[in-house]
Amino acid sequence: MEKINIAIDGPASSGKSTVAKILAKDYGFIYTDTGAMYRSVTYLAIKHHVAFSDAASLVNLIHRYPITFKQSETGQLVFIDGEDVTLAIRETNVTNNVSEVSAHELVRKELVNQQQIIAKDGGVVMDGRDIGTAVLPKAEVKIFLVASVLERAERRYKENQAKGIKTDFETLKAEIEKRDYIDSHREVSPLKQADDAVLIDTTGKTIAEVVDLIKEVVTEKGYL
Ligand code: C5P
Repeated sequence: MEKINIAIDGPASSGKSTVAKILAKDYGFIYTDTGAMYRSVTYLAIKHHVAFSDAASLVNLIHRYPITFKQSETGQLVFIDGEDVTLAIRETNVTNNVSEVSAHELVRKELVNQQQIIAKDGGVVMDGRDIGTAVLPKAEVKIFLVASVLERAERRYKENQAKGIKTDFETLKAEIEKRDYIDSHREVSPLKQADDAVLIDTTGKTIAEVVDLIKEVVTEKGYL
């Protein structure tokens, strides 16, 4: 199988990670969740009482506590220095502060470097906000996923309900909108569709339909 790179970007809860995981499995590629890396730095900052505004200290945390991924039966696990943080990095206190942490140029430089190393030999499906524009500008396939904020909040609300997490729908919607606003208005590598990315609106579409649409893009471009 040809080892191309597939970049999937888009706003919060647009379905990126769900479809990226399926594509990686179907193609036998490595899935890389770059959001989990920014979340891990935010988790470390909370744990070690480092201010979200202190870029140099955040970079020190990245150097001291390496972030790694491991494949398991139940999906991808995230580790920081041997500690399984897969669930901890999805907590609200991380989610609501990650955009401040990810806006720092120094933090992005470190993590983008790690992401580029992961993808250097191809065969990677990577999701995030700046994969097609900054991390892998030469990715063979670039997808930009969007969905209405209402549907994204509904999806997140149902996910939380299934996990037994109590959330207020309006609060959830406001948090998603705020995160998108910060992510798309930051100076360094803001959330933005790459010129050569294919836009897919997932509103009202099933996961399987979105996966099929992306596979069509891949074959139309002459790959796989
Ligand atoms: O994808 P996820 O929602 O887990 O990403 C969490 C946050 O990490 C985003 O809201 C954004 O601030 C940051 N992020 C980023 N660049 C990426 C991936 C995520 O800035 N490539």
